[in-house]
Amino acid sequence: MTKTVLITGGSRGIGRATAVLCAQNDWNIAFSYVGNKASAEETCAMCERVGRTGNVFAQKCDVRHENDVVHLFQTALDRFGDIDGVVNNAGIVAPRSNLADMDMARMKSVFDTNVLGAYLVAREAARTMTTSGGSIVNVSSVASKLGSPGEYVDYAGSKGAIDTLTIGLAKELGPKGIRVNAVRPGIIDTEIHGSVGRPERVAEIGPSCPLGRPGKANEVANAIYWLLTDDASYVTGALMDITGGR
Ligand code: NDP
Repeated sequence: MTKTVLITGGSRGIGRATAVLCAQNDWNIAFSYVGNKASAEETCAMCERVGRTGNVFAQKCDVRHENDVVHLFQTALDRFGDIDGVVNNAGIVAPRSNLADMDMARMKSVFDTNVLGAYLVAREAARTMTTSGGSIVNVSSVASKLGSPGEYVDYAGSKGAIDTLTIGLAKELGPKGIRVNAVRPGIIDTEIHGSVGRPERVAEIGPSCPLGRPGKANEVANAIYWLLTDDASYVTGALMDITGGR
């Protein structure tokens, strides 16, 4: 039977790569974007090229807004009937800074999106995924264990909350047959680095891991996809580093 996945932040980067991989494997895909409609349409086109016609739709949804998140899940249920997998992926980082120089608005923005937004998405997943065999994959970051000193300690802390969410929700939902895991990427070549004016970070820091290069979005998507499938049927509560050994 065809499975359905809901992905937040599918318009670019890791979310887009995951959507395309799911389409290749014949899943239905509901994904969100927040501002980049053109990129979202490109993701839809990429999915349609490798998957079935009518298997994908994009909806504008700001994960900071409860109504948007509830509406996204409702539309996916109306369209596809059931949700088997949720990829809690939307996230942001703010420009490089010491903690001492971070203002309240910046920290609030990071925590509103990466923590409250992700908790809202996970809550809706917990409310709507009733079928045993469901899988939630939270996109954390290796920053949660490295701390990102002098750069992004707010971001690192927000991802620490995602690790804790993963552990708690895995225990809450395990008895219902729903698995909850996190991936913790290292330096992955996506637009997130350019979004804070540091696209060069990929080339500068990417090669400093044991595998000697930055990761690609599809290399994270491969792990997310595996966690979504029944091949990972005994994996829950795991925090999977995808870092080239960093
Ligand atoms: P990108 O910047 O390429 O994509 C971010 C995605 O999130 C976009 O689809 C964007 O939508 C969406 N988004 C941003 N803010 C919101 C919001 N408020 N509500 C809904 N959607 C939103 O990032 P990546 O693909 O690199 O990152 C994906 C995840 O991976 C993030 O959680 C990030 O923290 C994590 N990660 C990334 C790493 C990396 O090196 N790239 C390393 C570790 C973790 P739109 O296109 O409409 O703006």
